[in-house]
Amino acid sequence: MCKFFFSYLVVFMSIMSVIAQQQNAICPILPNPVTYVKSNPGSQSGTLSVNDTLFFSAKELTPNVKSQLVYFGGLLQGLTLIESERNASITFKKQVNVIPDSYSITIADKITIQYANDAACFYAIQSLMQLIHINNGEKTLNKGFVADYPNYKWRGLHLDVSRHFFTKEEVKRFLDLMAIYKFNVFHWHLTDDQGWRIESKRYPKLTEIGAWRDSTVKDHYSTKPRTYDITKYGGFYTQEDVKEIVHYAADRFITVVPEIEMPGHARAALAAYPNFSCTGNALPVENLWGVFDDIFCAKKETLDFLKDLLDEFIPLFPGTYFHVGGDEAPKTRWKKCSNCQEVITDNKLKDEHELQSYFIRQLDEFLTSKGKKLIGWDEILEGGLSSNAAVMSWRGFEGGIEASRQGHEVVMTPGSHCYFDHYQGKTKEEPLAIGGYTPLSKVYEFSPISPNMSATQASFVLGGQANLWTEYIDSFDKLMYMAYPRAIALSQTLWNPAKKPSFETFEQLLIENHFPILDQLKINFSRSNLLPQQHWSSHKQGLKVNFSSKKENDLFHLTIFQSSDSGKKFTKEIMLQNKQDLIIDRELDSPELLVNVHSEHYGFEQQVKIIPHKALGETVHYLTSPNKQYDSGKLTLVNGQKGSRPWKGHEWVGFDTSTVALRITLQKKRRIKEVDISFLNEPGSWIYSPKKIQLLNPDGRKKLDRTVSNENGQERIKIEVNRKVKNIYLYISNWEEIPEGNPGAGHVPWTFIDEIFLR
Ligand SMILES: [Zn+2]
Repeated sequence: MCKFFFSYLVVFMSIMSVIAQQQNAICPILPNPVTYVKSNPGSQSGTLSVNDTLFFSAKELTPNVKSQLVYFGGLLQGLTLIESERNASITFKKQVNVIPDSYSITIADKITIQYANDAACFYAIQSLMQLIHINNGEKTLNKGFVADYPNYKWRGLHLDVSRHFFTKEEVKRFLDLMAIYKFNVFHWHLTDDQGWRIESKRYPKLTEIGAWRDSTVKDHYSTKPRTYDITKYGGFYTQEDVKEIVHYAADRFITVVPEIEMPGHARAALAAYPNFSCTGNALPVENLWGVFDDIFCAKKETLDFLKDLLDEFIPLFPGTYFHVGGDEAPKTRWKKCSNCQEVITDNKLKDEHELQSYFIRQLDEFLTSKGKKLIGWDEILEGGLSSNAAVMSWRGFEGGIEASRQGHEVVMTPGSHCYFDHYQGKTKEEPLAIGGYTPLSKVYEFSPISPNMSATQASFVLGGQANLWTEYIDSFDKLMYMAYPRAIALSQTLWNPAKKPSFETFEQLLIENHFPILDQLKINFSRSNLLPQQHWSSHKQGLKVNFSSKKENDLFHLTIFQSSDSGKKFTKEIMLQNKQDLIIDRELDSPELLVNVHSEHYGFEQQVKIIPHKALGETVHYLTSPNKQYDSGKLTLVNGQKGSRPWKGHEWVGFDTSTVALRITLQKKRRIKEVDISFLNEPGSWIYSPKKIQLLNPDGRKKLDRTVSNENGQERIKIEVNRKVKNIYLYISNWEEIPEGNPGAGHVPWTFIDEIFLR
């Protein structure tokens, strides 16, 4: 440590004499480096011009790092890089006794790169390429100095190739982009219910049968009735392909962590080898998304088969960690299987949860004996976990906090911040996604270390990772759209969280320096973060909304229509300055208001639909707290806007309790004819419309107490009021537990509300 600072100081002081330093300059590199010093802008001596052909001196560089320099120099900047001691304008120098993976770049009349190890040299190359500035075809570098090193050792991106398959070439492009943003772990989700994607020579049917499905569900899986694309779909990687990808990744200092899912998400494997299930029934490779009851049986034959497979795959993956899944394994089959019950009895296990723990422990011992470390989703904690195993926390931070308390290594990948299969924008133009809402700003807020961890616990956190589940990602272009720029926001958090620029600065760097890089690489990335934002708030007359844009002088052109069953009628046209307010009156007598918003600067059009009613902008009191992740604010329930279906996360308030109590307080007593509540019924996501709603009005002269039951799962519940009220109390009851035979059986159901209309 001390030695590092010593050499760092020497380098630092040597450039002090060369350049007039400018502290706190914004560095264009993302993730933003630990230290950046730039020469005074505008001064003649402040820049270095960069020729399209550059010579470098590289006596100490390995052949791989040299070829990466040539490859990425060409890819990112169109440079031709040639090794030559005599004319070198870039010199590489290896340092000893410095922080692992640390590097520095000094840009004076020549460029000097000092590095701790090969990975560090590779990171320096990526940074240098991002520093090159192109103006009217001229390439220049600002003179200055960068010193940098990563904060976390696990900086990961995951890719599910089961739900949708990505070719070897597409995986390589994915790895190239990871490398540019200094990610170093590629979590390759190779098997799931909908397809087995890695060749086994011992069990060839896994790909002969398991890699192909006859059809695939179309649209969102909650859309009813379901329709299917009946094209045969599939693909797999041969062991030669796997070796090639692992090698390609290693050349970019990325470790591949393979995932073979067990005991759940095993339908593709069981389609090939039904004898490893509990029932032995032959079922096809799954064509629908979700969680399925048929999982690997916990009998010895199945465990032997899985160990056999791991034994075959271990030599393909030189990294330490091997992921065995472990999530979402329903115990329905295990409860009724005589083989599983025998394992429970023989090993004196308490129940099927301990059986899952036993199952994972068998594989953990096997992997450990082969010099590997088991990693799995946080469900592997249930029923006890052997000390060697690492945990990937996906159902929030809690699993990771508990795992670190027990002394397990942790990779944080909570759904709230790291699930890139969620929506990232609120407009209807966003392509279909699974649900949820994780905008760029939310990803940028992420920290793998929870404030609820002690320093010792924090020391077990290896880092973080974003997951790209591909149920709704069916092409490479869509994959890139979902991954970028969110992956860049994550890279900042994982590389240098201590000196993270403000989100506004980060966005500015993205727009000015990194969107051009992605454009040049022909990446289909999302610009959703640039879309104007809507800000809704309460107003004494109803609702207040303004549209704000990243362009200070943007102007919004609003065209307002009133619509009803008989059609759409033009109402008026309004021009709004950036952040100027529009008031929507709760007395407005119109069934529906359509507002088309056109941003003059960005030239896109957005449509907002408002259903005026008497509680618009009134006060909602939660007597039951919503789940933090699905609390989009109290105004959501009285903003006249319906949530989208399929569910998109925003525009809904979600509760994970069996009963929900709410109060709406009106500014003054008013005559209300009826309360009309809008719920979501999406059993596939464990979201159920409530069973009973009670309405109470304790401040009314006559006691109001009405109960409506809803056994059929209706999404709209209307309750008659017909009197003057100031307060409306609602008591909403759902099942205590989801009954057997339904998705999520045994768990508390979710209740989702998007609007409470008072008429
Ligand atoms: Zn069984």
